[in-house]
Amino acid sequence: MSTIRVTVWNEYLHEIQFDQVAKIYPNGIHNCIGDFLKEAGMDVKTATLRMPEHGLTEAVLQDTDVLIWWGHMAHHEVADDIVQRVYQRVLDGMGLIVLHSGHASKIFSKLMGTNSGNLKWREDGEKEILWAVDPGHPICEGLDEKIIIEHEEMYGEHFDIPQPDEQVFISWFAGGEVFRSGCCWHRGKGRIFYFRPGHEVFPIYHMPQIQKIIINAVKWACPRKSPDVTYGNTQPIVSVDSKVEGVTGNPGLQE
Ligand code: ZN
Repeated sequence: MSTIRVTVWNEYLHEIQFDQVAKIYPNGIHNCIGDFLKEAGMDVKTATLRMPEHGLTEAVLQDTDVLIWWGHMAHHEVADDIVQRVYQRVLDGMGLIVLHSGHASKIFSKLMGTNSGNLKWREDGEKEILWAVDPGHPICEGLDEKIIIEHEEMYGEHFDIPQPDEQVFISWFAGGEVFRSGCCWHRGKGRIFYFRPGHEVFPIYHMPQIQKIIINAVKWACPRKSPDVTYGNTQPIVSVDSKVEGVTGNPGLQE
């Protein structure tokens, strides 16, 4: 398999504005994630909100197999035409991994068909147990059946998403809530993985098991060589002899 080309996109605002976050991610969350993906043999670029076109030019996206998205406080600052550009690339086959509060991003809402991104949340730094509920899934390769995260922001159900095509992880939180923390969907030719852990004041992306999940997810979301599909009015592949008297087709459906 050729080298997977990953672009890690980050708002890159918390790390600049808050010392507590800068201490955990001195080079930004994007570079922390980028570094362990490079170590895994991937070809990594990074892009951030304040770059021209948010760093997501046509050329960058055409050169990207899998895009990773971390955003939290500035979803509204992402320009609609860039969202549309990313959306089209996903339909054409680019993988997308949406992390943590990326559930409220424009691109995730557009792909999911829901505008709310609603869930419960609480910043108490409570314990989480992340359970692999589909242990045979490629994203679970090499993991234990559960990962204990000592301190994390709680996200709780109900999470307003369409039913996932594949449910990979479910979390329990010390306060009693549960959450669908790892979910897969297919849109067009693209694969999407939502993975919840990663609140910026805890060193979540430094955890080897969390890194393993993200590496596995990039491999899962990577585009395959897939058939070109044609849509619309079409000629029969095999000759059709049986004509029904008086029926000449359905002009109303022609494009
Ligand atoms: Zn958070």
